[in-house]
Parts: sequence; structure tokens; C-alpha cells
Amino acid sequence: MTKPSQELRTRLASEIDAIDIVDTHEHVPDEAAAYAHPLGLFGFFDHYVSSDLVSAGMPREALEQMRSPDSGLSIDERWALLADFWPYVRHTGYGRAMREYMADLFDVDDIGEDTYAILCERIDAAHRPGWYETVLKDKARIAAALVTTWPGQSVAVDPAYFRAVPILDHYATAATRADLEALEAESDRSIQTLAQLLGALEARLAGIVEQGVAGIKVFLAYRRPLLFERVDEAAAARCFDRIWLSQALDLAFEDLKPLQDFVMWHLVGLAADRGLAIQVHTGLQEGNGNYLENSRPTLLANLFMAFGDARFDLFHAGYPYTGEAAALAKNFANVALDLCWVQAISPLVAARTLDEWIDTVPANKIFAVGGDSNYAEGAYGHCKVARRVACEVLAGKVESGGLSEDEAAWYARRILRENAEAFFRLDLGNATDRA
Ligand SMILES: [Zn+2]
Repeated sequence: MTKPSQELRTRLASEIDAIDIVDTHEHVPDEAAAYAHPLGLFGFFDHYVSSDLVSAGMPREALEQMRSPDSGLSIDERWALLADFWPYVRHTGYGRAMREYMADLFDVDDIGEDTYAILCERIDAAHRPGWYETVLKDKARIAAALVTTWPGQSVAVDPAYFRAVPILDHYATAATRADLEALEAESDRSIQTLAQLLGALEARLAGIVEQGVAGIKVFLAYRRPLLFERVDEAAAARCFDRIWLSQALDLAFEDLKPLQDFVMWHLVGLAADRGLAIQVHTGLQEGNGNYLENSRPTLLANLFMAFGDARFDLFHAGYPYTGEAAALAKNFANVALDLCWVQAISPLVAARTLDEWIDTVPANKIFAVGGDSNYAEGAYGHCKVARRVACEVLAGKVESGGLSEDEAAWYARRILRENAEAFFRLDLGNATDRA
């Protein structure tokens, strides 16, 4: 006989599986660009598992050889490099997610000695136009995914699947004359003064708003602390002038900081005025070797206070500062919380965090799904984990009497779709919803 708790989970899971989700964060390229290198399994090590491999001791040179299309290695040689370290990472959140989506999509039992060759064959065979429809729509049921676009990259993405969220940090982080010249080329404007830099930024923002972006992304926690202090215009202009005169990378962070802080304040103000949401990377940085403290979400509090009309989306639950992120969202009406990527880092942390947030944060301020993958397959896999985490946590709330079963289903719709749809003001008219 089935236990009542299993029946509840089955019912809730079928409600949750039926939701066409809004995925708040991916790096998946348009399909036309996705199949450049037929590397099979070894084309999936741009990120995440690769970081755990290096953390486990894999030399970076070996990683590069294993994953680079230019290394000229056979798949047997690539596997030989991976095999030494794969046993140590196959059980982390990253490794488990990859094993699960590979098994689901390519019909293998596991990733290992016996399967890597057949996996490579099946992956390369699947990578044909139409695969995104299968993976992102039929399997993942993603109504729309917000994808980050990098400085200089077009914000024109395939509206059947994606909405762009561009990074504009490079308007704040120019450090040499050459960086300013690159901005001149991007903006097709002369940038010889601070006022001209701000004008170029405003023009760029107006252009991307016209192209229908869903927000902007701040990625600076990868390279500096998230504390942006209020700087007066004269100090920022002096800083700009030093950069304009700088032919080499001779200015230290302290020299560059006044301009970075000033431009970031300006950018947040512009985004608020234009109704654009601001996604901020907080918490763990992908890759190996960074200053975790730079990403602490509490460093942003002065911006939250100064820009009451801005809408901030704190990425990655601020992990490991998940409790601090919750306290911020509780405190500030303009701060929402995003579990994107955390399901892949650790389903356990995602579940524990969501459990705490439901207890502490209003229901309309939580986004519980964002795969943060470079690959359609990863987006599918990580979204699947997110649905499972939501189901498990919400079922637990029903069992403990915190939510009724109807409320749990409502909560799931909020955190897997409706909150993001409202927060990012998405028009999902171009996105195919499946009945
Ligand atoms: Zn990301």
C-alpha cells in the first residue's frame, strides 16, 4: 500500500510537472550556434563539473586538453584524462545532475568507461536543428528562459525560447584608453569625458530596451566587492581622466573604484527609471579561485536603500549567504531572491534554502528555477532538479501543516513561473506554452 506522503508527492509532482516554467537564468546560445564542435560528452565541460574536477586536483592543462576542440585528442584519450578524477566528482550536485540528464536524454545508465563512446555518438547525432524544441520545450517545458548576454554580444536572441539580459558592467570597468576605445566602437560615439561615457551608456540602454530585453545583469562580484559607494561627479570625472590617459594597465582597483561606483549608481538609476529589473550575481563564483566575500549580498544594502523603485533579483541565493539574502528580501520591498544555479550546486542546499525562504520571505519574491547552463541539456537537467526540490519542500510544508495542498500547488506556480513573469514584465506571447 502506498503511504499517504507518497500519494501527496505524486499529486504535487504531477501539478508541478505541468507548469510551463519561466527560467530566470541560462547561458544557452541560440540553436544555430550550439553545435559548432562535435565533441560529444566532452563538449559539456565548459563549466561546473570542470570546476569540481580542478577542485579535486585535475591539472588545468589536462582539463583543457580533455575539453578543447583544438587539442586533437581522440575520445579515448579524452576519457583517459577525465577517468582519473571523474570518481571524485560524480556525486556532487554538478556530477549528479549531469549523469541524470545524460541518462534521460541519451538513454545510458551512467557516465563511465562503458558508456562514454556511445554517449558521444548519440550526442553528436542528436545535435541537429529541432533538438532545442525537444529538450527545452517537450522535455523541460520552459515557456521562456532569461539568458545573459555578454558585453559586445547581440541581445537579439531566439524569442521562441529566450529573453536577453545583457551585462553592461564594461561601461563601469574601463581601466585603460583601449577599454574606452572599445566602448567607442561599440557605441559609435566619441568617449573622451565622463559625460560622454554616461551618454553612451544611456544610448546603449535605450537601444536594448527597444529590443525587448528582460533586464540587466551585474556580474561584478567576479572581480570586486559588491559595495558601491556614493561618489561625487567631480571625483568620478578625475578618475575617468586618469583612465583616458592610461595606455597600460597601470591603475590599481583603488584608482578605478570611484568611476566604477559612480557608473554603477548611474546605471541602477537608469534601469529603475526604465522599469528594467536588475539581476545581480551574489554568492559563489563559478570557476576556481576567487574571493567569496566580494559576492556577499549585504554589501548591496546602500543601493537597495537609495533606489526604492529599482527591482533587484539576487542570484544564486547568495550561497553560502542564503540566510543573509533572506533577511534582505524580508527587509527591502525592492529585493527578490533567486535560486538559479543552486539546484545544480547542491539540491540539498536548494531544498534547505527554499524551506527557510518560504518561512521567512513573502511568496511573490522567490524565483525557484534557473538552470544557469551553457547547454540546452543542462538547462533541462537543472530545471528538472528544481521541480523536484520544489515538490519535496512544498510536500514537507503540507505535512507539517504550514500549507494546505491547494496552497502548495499555488506556491509552486508562483515560484516556478508567475513571480518571474510579473517581476520581469514578460510578454510570453512568442513562447510556446504546452497544454
Ligand atoms: Zn550564470
